[in-house]
Amino acid sequence: MRPHNKVMGVISDNVRSLLAGIPAGVTVVAAAKSRTVAEIEEAIDAGITDIGENYLQEAVPVIGALGDRARWHFIGHVQKNKAKHVVRLFDTIQTVDSVELATLLDAHASKNGRTVPVLVEVNSGREENKHGVMPEDAVALVRRISTLDNIRVKGLMTMGPFMEDFSGLRPYFRETRMLFEEIASLGIANVAMEVLSMGMSDSYDIAIEEGATMVRIGTRIFGPR
Ligand SMILES: *Cc1c(COP(=O)(O)O)cnc(C)c1O
Repeated sequence: MRPHNKVMGVISDNVRSLLAGIPAGVTVVAAAKSRTVAEIEEAIDAGITDIGENYLQEAVPVIGALGDRARWHFIGHVQKNKAKHVVRLFDTIQTVDSVELATLLDAHASKNGRTVPVLVEVNSGREENKHGVMPEDAVALVRRISTLDNIRVKGLMTMGPFMEDFSGLRPYFRETRMLFEEIASLGIANVAMEVLSMGMSDSYDIAIEEGATMVRIGTRIFGPR
């Protein structure tokens, strides 16, 4: 399928050179959509500890094969009819953006006897057709989620708007970090602002400069999709 990746070592080399440039305290989540179990396993063997998946149906066989070898982050949009399985399979859900979704995840977490860490996804570009809560509505959403017993807000996640020139993302990352600090300063019970997930293959260095503690990287690890 992707013959250039069949040569063992390309992904390992990518992971090693990437991790060498990542500061301590920043976690790399390998964004693994469309990648095979073998590719993901090579990334784990080379030092990746956290894997992000966007689609439940792709994640099921991967987690089945490699489940205990990494932490699993759901980074796609959670469809309501899949919420039950997303809660069952993933360690962290990064894309909570509404009270309705939070309430549904909380109910499934309760049935599983779990407390699930989540990030609130912020639509930092305020784009109409994008997921994520509008920045001005984020505090209210975090407060509502803080009253649910079985999910715990651990931070924020953002994609930022699509741009040809990735340096244009800096103000969106900066605004999300300021929101992160604002929420932290409110000291809301049951809310911890520990994780700020932003930055991808072309923008992770800017995101880290702007305060990201977690970056989600696909292409730079696995090659073009
Ligand atoms: C695919 C994806 C990434 C990584 O994108 P790359 O540009 O391949 O690094 C990060 N976050 C999310 C939510 C993604 O879907």
